Amino acid sequence: MKYDVIVIGGGLGGLECGYILARAGKSVLVLEQGRQTGGCLQSYRRNGLKFDTGFHYVGGLEKGQPLYRVFEYLGLDSLPWHRMDETFDRITVAGREYALSQGYDNFALRLAEDFPNEKEALKQYASLLSETESRQLDGLNPECQEDDFASSLCETNAYQYLCQSFRDTGLIDAVSGASLKMELRKSSLPLFTFLHGNSGYVGSSWRLKGSGSLLTGALAEGIRKQGGEVKCRAGAEELIGERHRIVRVRCTDGNTYEGDVFIGAIHPALVCRMIKQDGLLKPAYRNRIFRQTNTFGVFTVSLVLKPDELRYFNYNRYVYRKADVWSSASPGEIDRVMISCRVPEDGAYARQIDLLTPFLWEECLPWVQTEIGKRGEDYLLWKERIADACMVLAETVVPGLGDAVEQRYISTPLTYAGYLQAPEGSAYGVRKDAGNPLEVLLSPRTPFPNLYLTGQSLMMHGVQGVTQTALFTCAEVLGRDWIWRHIVEGK
Ligand SMILES: Cc1cc2nc3c(=O)[nH]c(=O)nc-3n(C[C@H](O)[C@H](O)[C@H](O)COP(=O)(O)OP(=O)(O)OC[C@H]3O[C@@H](n4cnc5c(N)ncnc54)[C@H](O)[C@@H]3O)c2cc1C
Repeated sequence: MKYDVIVIGGGLGGLECGYILARAGKSVLVLEQGRQTGGCLQSYRRNGLKFDTGFHYVGGLEKGQPLYRVFEYLGLDSLPWHRMDETFDRITVAGREYALSQGYDNFALRLAEDFPNEKEALKQYASLLSETESRQLDGLNPECQEDDFASSLCETNAYQYLCQSFRDTGLIDAVSGASLKMELRKSSLPLFTFLHGNSGYVGSSWRLKGSGSLLTGALAEGIRKQGGEVKCRAGAEELIGERHRIVRVRCTDGNTYEGDVFIGAIHPALVCRMIKQDGLLKPAYRNRIFRQTNTFGVFTVSLVLKPDELRYFNYNRYVYRKADVWSSASPGEIDRVMISCRVPEDGAYARQIDLLTPFLWEECLPWVQTEIGKRGEDYLLWKERIADACMVLAETVVPGLGDAVEQRYISTPLTYAGYLQAPEGSAYGVRKDAGNPLEVLLSPRTPFPNLYLTGQSLMMHGVQGVTQTALFTCAEVLGRDWIWRHIVEGK
């Protein structure tokens, strides 16, 4: 059988594309190398409890917000979404606490209580956040020739913008403090990535009652219901071409599948490595992809708490040991941690809390050649030492956390590299760079007319960013007009 579309990678981006294209009447096959779909959004079970790998909260799901409309189309609006407190993130920097609140006006007003001299600047910043959110799908409008708003944000350095907008460095820390979910790099982070990573949450912030795999499970089921296929343990190994088109994909189990259109919903470097025939892929494109650098990885401590010990808190905490959250920690130092509670199945007490801290691949190098589950005693001791450091920092804002812990599980960038094939265990894929947007911002298009890319390495990461990118990729197959009418306008 020849499929209309073959998607390589069953993470959020691949499944969203698979769903949209299957619903548009295409015959779709999604190939996932892992034992389960979901990629960063998969979950695992230990001692009867489910743990998330890469989902804690999402912004932008209130009726009327752009992501809500897309989730409605994808059938994800009916999942058990749980609205977070009005103050959805609490940021502690060098002992000083700031509150980030939902609602753009509210966000500015609340921070202005701590920074009264910055009231006007905060108002302008909140208005830019709101505009970024409301215009996120503008580029799909068939009447829009060029998205100048997005282009100019991509070329602006986020840190420089903040320094020009706010006089108080404490305020820069406050508005940046929840950005552990992106890489705060003074030299490169584009304002586009910074605003997108924050704006939806200010609009409205949500957790799931249940694991992040509910999202990807629902998408996989939706693809199957529409006649599509989703195969796990089906790692794509080679993309085979004829006359400048990709015609089939060969998997590690030896099976080959023919298709009209192919979508690489994995890291772009992995897609390039799959094109092995001499002369098939333009060297300029291959070199450009291989020149890209990757964002940091994440070290996660997943805590199981004793019953009835610690009350559930319906917001995240971010704690930084020192001021200037834009400067990175020295190797081996844990100077920041995000603390996120899972919504309890019942009752007022938390059973699971995750601690996350950014983590460099370089620190994992001693164990790169080892296999999952066989990395050795020194790896286990190293992990425990870092987890202890995360606990010490977390306890400064959640007193009693240590005593409440019953069990803990740890994952490192090596875990992501091992399970998801994520290069360098990178959490958010290719690093974006305001100084070089043309080199770094990858388009869904490739040199092949029937091979496209999607996923977090392209425009944006996170649930919201990957969803938006999936629309742009599907627009290449179905046309912008189709996506605009059926999904954005919902006609
Ligand atoms: C620790 C962590 C916490 C996060 N928290 C949040 C959060 O709270 N909110 C939020 O919005 N975002 C969060 N994110 C980001 C979000 O999870 C990701 O941006 C998003 O899930 C990425 O989706 P993707 O489809 O682009 O990539 P991936 O999820 O990486 O999916 C790629 C898939 O391709 C598969 N694959 C790889 N190679 C092959 C091959 N050769 N053949 C077939 N399949 C292959 C992989 O197994 C994987 O399933 C977090 C990420 C991390 C790492």
